[in-house]
Amino acid sequence: MMNGGHACTGALAGAAMSGVVGAATGAQLGVAGTAVGALLGAGAALLPDLDADGATAYRSGGPVTAAVGETFQWLARVAYRTTRLPHDPDGDGEHRGLVHTPVFAVMLGLLVALGALLSPWVTAVVMVLVLAPGIGALSRSGPKWVRRRLRTHRDPVALLVAVGIVALLMWSGALTNLGWFAGVSIAVGMLVHSVGDSATRSGIPWTWPIRRRCDTCSMTVRCPGSRWRRSHVLPKPMRWRVGSPSGKAIEGVIEVVCLVLVGALMLPDVAALMAMA
Ligand SMILES: [Zn+2]
Ligand SMILES: [Zn+2]
Repeated sequence: MMNGGHACTGALAGAAMSGVVGAATGAQLGVAGTAVGALLGAGAALLPDLDADGATAYRSGGPVTAAVGETFQWLARVAYRTTRLPHDPDGDGEHRGLVHTPVFAVMLGLLVALGALLSPWVTAVVMVLVLAPGIGALSRSGPKWVRRRLRTHRDPVALLVAVGIVALLMWSGALTNLGWFAGVSIAVGMLVHSVGDSATRSGIPWTWPIRRRCDTCSMTVRCPGSRWRRSHVLPKPMRWRVGSPSGKAIEGVIEVVCLVLVGALMLPDVAALMAMA
């Protein structure tokens, strides 16, 4: 899946999750909560592609996100080298490897949630780095007037807006309670990314580090094993090739549907806000 599809599906997951969190904790998050949830989900759904140089999340924060990307890629290569089995594919296992696994998504989310216990600044920095690519990618997928009026499709502007949002959250005192929310959002967003990639022909190594039979050995042949075998969420004829004309058309529809649903989730809060004014 390409950036736009990842960002829009992540935004929908994030917006829905802030609704669930609001209902579960009784917190009145309102339209701001849903909006921040959507932006955070969109950004988190771009994080797994930090394992590819030049991806949106890789370049969104300049040298800072590039350094995070290089660190993730190094971890991915080390994990591949140390856990690969004879029937795992050749290569260094960098792209669509460790950073695309559910294990990594949950660990990173946990790390962010725990980091919030150290200092609210950890949450602040993480949120800026996640929000910036989310804002940029959503602006590129959204209606034209966003690009014309807000210019948030450009990386530096998206980064500035992300800093502004986090500064506002900090100033209002909301940021201190957002550490675990950021952690859960990151894990969920990254999982949504992996589901997106698994709907295409690429697939991702869902079951790492579990040892499995590779996909070429038959049931009768003894397979020396594979840990990085990729799995999919759709039956073979329904998977599309990333970047192909039909793939782009399918992802375009997914983007619009997700954005409309995010809008629908925000509608009750906007209506309440209008009634108050
Ligand atoms: Zn990916
Ligand atoms: Zn095999």
